Amino acid sequence: MEQIEGDRCDLCFDGRLRSRQVREYYRFGKGLVVLERVPAYVCENCGERYYAAEVAKRMRQLAKMGPRAKERVSFPVIHFEPRKATA
Ligand SMILES: [Zn+2]
Repeated sequence: MEQIEGDRCDLCFDGRLRSRQVREYYRFGKGLVVLERVPAYVCENCGERYYAAEVAKRMRQLAKMGPRAKERVSFPVIHFEPRKATA
């Protein structure tokens, strides 16, 4: 695997990348899957995440197993509406 620990971030050009395990909210088509303990490199400054090519590929494979996942979470859905003007 490509070793990029300690490299400078390509987005903010300031932070260094640190090896972390992250929770990824992974979208595919109309679906959303929560992937836990994904190995990533995270910028210590801006939080941008980088994944090795094989990790990105594996995430796509695992996301397809979403409909058969035993573990589920539910999220509240709130539609944005602007604040009412106060007189
Ligand atoms: Zn950064």
